[in-house]
Formats: sequence, C-alpha cells, structure tokens
Amino acid sequence: MTAIWSVDTEAFYQNAVKVRNNQSLMAVVKNNAYHYGLEFAVKEFLKAGIQTFSTTSLKEAVRVREIAPQATIFLMNAVYDFDTVRKYQIHMTLPSLSYYYDHKDDLSSIHVHLEFENLLHRSGFKDLNEFHEVLENDAQNKSENKMIISGLWTHFGYADEFDVLEYGIEREAWLNILNILLDEGYTFDMIHSQNSASYYREGQIVLPHHTHARVGIALYGSRPYSKLNKSEIQQSLTVKSNVIQVREVNKGDYCGYSFAYEVTKDYTHLAVVDVGYGDGILKSRAQHEVLINGKRYPIKALMMSHMFVEVDDEVHPQDEVVLYNNDIRIDEYTFKGVGANSEQLSAMNHDSLIKEYI
Ligand SMILES: *Cc1c(COP(=O)(O)O)cnc(C)c1O
Repeated sequence: MTAIWSVDTEAFYQNAVKVRNNQSLMAVVKNNAYHYGLEFAVKEFLKAGIQTFSTTSLKEAVRVREIAPQATIFLMNAVYDFDTVRKYQIHMTLPSLSYYYDHKDDLSSIHVHLEFENLLHRSGFKDLNEFHEVLENDAQNKSENKMIISGLWTHFGYADEFDVLEYGIEREAWLNILNILLDEGYTFDMIHSQNSASYYREGQIVLPHHTHARVGIALYGSRPYSKLNKSEIQQSLTVKSNVIQVREVNKGDYCGYSFAYEVTKDYTHLAVVDVGYGDGILKSRAQHEVLINGKRYPIKALMMSHMFVEVDDEVHPQDEVVLYNNDIRIDEYTFKGVGANSEQLSAMNHDSLIKEYI
C-alpha cells in the first residue's frame, strides 16, 4: 500500500466549465498546472472552451504550444531567449522601461503585453508616464519588424484580502490607467488583470474593457477566499493512504519520535498510516484531521513516511485514510491557516505518491 494522489478527470472538467461561466478565460498553468499535470490540465481546459494559457516559465510555454498548437500563450515573466519566444509564437510581458530600452531590437516581431506594477511591485511599469514613454517611443520606431504591442495587463496582489482596502485601491489605479489609454485611442488585443479572487469578487465575470480573466486556483478546484460557497468550486483531487496497523496505547505513553504525542486516555486506539511529510504532507496540515470511513479523526504525530491518527474501534487495518478530497478540502485548510492552496498542492511529493487520473 502506498499513498495515492488521484484526480477525477470528469470532476476536473466539470469544474472548469463551471468556473469559466461562458467568460473568456486565460488559464494559468504555471508550476506544472499547479501540479495537476500540464498536459492533462491544458487538454481538459481546451475541452472546456479555454484557448488562452499563461505561465511563468518559457519551458512550460513551449510545452503548451506543443499540446495546443492554436492556443494563445502568454509568458508572465520576461526572458532573454528571444529566438525561442519568436519560434513558438509566445506572447510575453514587457516588465519595465529598462528592459524595453535594452532589448527593443531583440524583441522584433514578438507580441508583448505592457505590464502595470501596481501594489505588488513584482514587475511592470510604475505609472502612466512610463506607459506613455514606451508607447510614444514605439510609435516613432519605424522598423518593419519591431515588437508588437498587443496587450495590457496587471496582477492584483490583494484580491483575496477582505479586511483591508488595498484591493479597491489597486483596482482603481489600474482601471484609471486603462481608461486613460483607451480614451487616448490606444487599442490592445488583450487586456487582463483578474486572478481567481478578483474574478469571483466581480461576480465571476471579466471586468469592463478586459478581454480575459487570468484564472488559476479556481480552475484547479480550490476557493480563493472563504466567503465563496463550497458548491461553487469542486475539488477533483484526492490524496489518500491506508491504515497499516491499529495499536492500543495507554495513558502516559509517548508515541512517535521525541515525545511527539502523549496519550491522555487509557485504551486509546492509534492508527498507523503510511503517509508522511516525505510524501508532502505539511506539518501545519498534521495539526488537523483525516477522514476514515466518512468520519474525521485527529492526526497526532507526523513522521517521514508515517503518521499516527487517534481513532476508535470502528477503524481497522487497510481502511482508507483520506487527507484531501471534496469532503475534506485543500481550501478548508487554507482558511484554517495551514498554508495557501497552491502551497499545499506544491508540497505534495510526486516522486513518492502514486499518481492516477481516473
Ligand atoms: C498565479 C498567478 C495568477 C493566478 O492566480 P490564482 O489566484 O491562482 O487565480 C494570475 N496572475 C499571475 C501574474 C499569477 O502569478
């Protein structure tokens, strides 16, 4: 028995259709499609009517081109391998004025999307003046194969925060720049800003004048914030293992390494489960429960390839132990402070877990 990571293909697809809501989405497929598998995810998203993809690595962008020859592919990080970007017809961010001046000629025939830095300060132009500078400089460039300005975009860093005003501030700053540029007569084939949280905060629709919402985590079945109802987004991933033994321990016994867990009642049933941090179960996740035969039981100690779960006499060797499925979801633990949805997904060890698509 080995721990299994499995995805229900039909549930994944149905969720994508529901998230898409007949809007025009750019599916974010960075980090191997949030570790759901790049090829699997791109194919399911295509079936669900999504034809635009976005990632942070050129290597993944090239793989997406191979899987989806007709797709529009947007690279969110600027790179320096201009020939590959051209060869695979990948759109790329224009991240700063200095990058523009340094690589104006290298960028010939490449589609770029001008990026607004906004409150995240990770990348992008600082203000409207910088947008004007590059747009005017480009207008004066009479070279035949100059870069092609085909998009405008930003990323909201606070869309999943409800207790602070920052989302409203970054949203307004962006819409202000966008509206001024459009009023001045500039046009862009692609305008995108919304991550999952912003997309849902705006009512699961694409903002005015935008061509796409750039959605990741919702497409992978986790809610970006807790106010959303669970039924709106379905988790297709299951991570499960098995009980390999049930042991009886007594009050005062210490179990696990270095007094990990002290037994507080007599005749306690302790299930030994063959999954651990070596399989990517976070220490913070082990502060919570697992699901065995439809009932939740607390994890008491986490080891590299085992965990102890305090159970009762209804639990037996070989019973399935579910760490994650649609009844015990990743997003539930996100909201309990275990770590971001993507952090829990990224922690999973795909070398030790058996991977299945069913
Ligand atoms: C990861 C990412 C997204 C998607 O965010 P989700 O919260 O997963 O929807 C969108 N835009 C950028 C720039 C990103 O890095």
